[in-house]
Amino acid sequence: MTIRTRFAPSPTGYLHVGGARTALFSWLYARKHGGQFILRIEDTDLERSTAESVNAILEGMTWLGLEYDEGPFYQTHRFDRYKEVIAQLLEQGDAYYCYCSKEELDTLREQQRANKEKPRYNGKCRHAAQEKKGVAPVIRFKNPLEGSVIVQDAVKGNIEFQNSELDDLIIARPDGTPTYNLTVVVDDLDMGLTHVIRGDDHLNNSPRQINIFKALGAEVPVFAHLPMILGDDGARLSKRHGAVSVMSYRDEGYLPEALLNYLVRLGWSHGDQEIFSIDEMISLFDIIDVNKSASAFNTDKLLWLNQHYIKTSTAEHIAHHLAWHMGQLSIDPADGPDLVKVVALQQERAKTLVEMAANSQFFYKEVTEYDEKAARKNLTPASVEILENMVQRLSALPEWQAEPIHSHIKECSVAREIGMGKVAQPIRVAITGNTMSPPLDVTLELLGTERTLAAMKSAVTWINDQK
Ligand code: GLU
Repeated sequence: MTIRTRFAPSPTGYLHVGGARTALFSWLYARKHGGQFILRIEDTDLERSTAESVNAILEGMTWLGLEYDEGPFYQTHRFDRYKEVIAQLLEQGDAYYCYCSKEELDTLREQQRANKEKPRYNGKCRHAAQEKKGVAPVIRFKNPLEGSVIVQDAVKGNIEFQNSELDDLIIARPDGTPTYNLTVVVDDLDMGLTHVIRGDDHLNNSPRQINIFKALGAEVPVFAHLPMILGDDGARLSKRHGAVSVMSYRDEGYLPEALLNYLVRLGWSHGDQEIFSIDEMISLFDIIDVNKSASAFNTDKLLWLNQHYIKTSTAEHIAHHLAWHMGQLSIDPADGPDLVKVVALQQERAKTLVEMAANSQFFYKEVTEYDEKAARKNLTPASVEILENMVQRLSALPEWQAEPIHSHIKECSVAREIGMGKVAQPIRVAITGNTMSPPLDVTLELLGTERTLAAMKSAVTWINDQK
């Protein structure tokens, strides 16, 4: 049997990290078994679905590298097929028209509430539908009245639902459009899905869907309902807890592999291993190892993983992602040294790509402002001579390389009987605007003669102007 899984988001917002984890687990399961992963856009709610949201989902999937083998399929393109299945259910006596008005249903619900009963449709039209002139009926599925449905869940085990607890759900609205539980079953069936992996907020829909599968004479797929993701306060993860959209993690400077590694551990583990390459995830992941209980989102751990991947990935790979962040700062990496070389210098010292981009701007853009504290301490009248002396020394260098640059910083400090830091810091502030940079000699080598000397001369002018 070829394993076929799917991710079926409703395009009503951005790609949420919870959705991304569902997508990741479905993708991993398909990849592990050499199967197929399908993307289906559940856009039948015409009022809430938007094209921007579809784009946001596609963008998130692409950024994470969760490639789908088939799709995206859009449910709005499949209305004819849903109509066909609804007609089939009506014909075989598994569905019926219901003319009950909203007022009738409201009264029923109130009565049930007053009697402390669970609000549910009483099946009036199932037994004796009375056509009402001018009233467009809904269509309800005839849920079995007796017995039970067992959801054989790969994560939660067997869960039994009594049919007497499930009412006859609406499968078509008065305008004929199909509802969620119907479209999902038709699609899961037509798309040959073997495994339905989704959030456990859908667990209560599963017995209803299983009954529809059975009415259609179809084999029921394996279900796996993933436990919720919680925020650090134990409540369901939401905007209140900070970033929840996948793309906001890109914006905040995370690498996709860090987020994937983080998400795979939300509810799944393999011993106490924390770091997983994509290949390892694929080979080690199994749906039956997913925890039954909810897991909590921990931003510190995500940051730790991000730093790990920034340190250990190739500079080329990081540069590819960093280029986007440089663009956000209106910097074109073509206007300065090779970005890969900049990354190689910065890899050890950044937790996020936002931080790395901010700290690398000076390679591409003249410093126009100095950090106040850094300037007060390091760009003083006393440093004018040092900077001038260093300009002289460095202008005369036959080869612009880290080693001779280092020797000159050292010689200058020895000649003046001051520490090397007293020479290096004014230069550092002159070129970066601040007191932090990778080792100065290699930084200057990469920055190049012209930019280095110009920045040092500007700092001298700036100091003199302060007098
Ligand atoms: N479209 C549903 C959602 O976004 C998911 C349906 C399913 O996975 O069966 O919550």
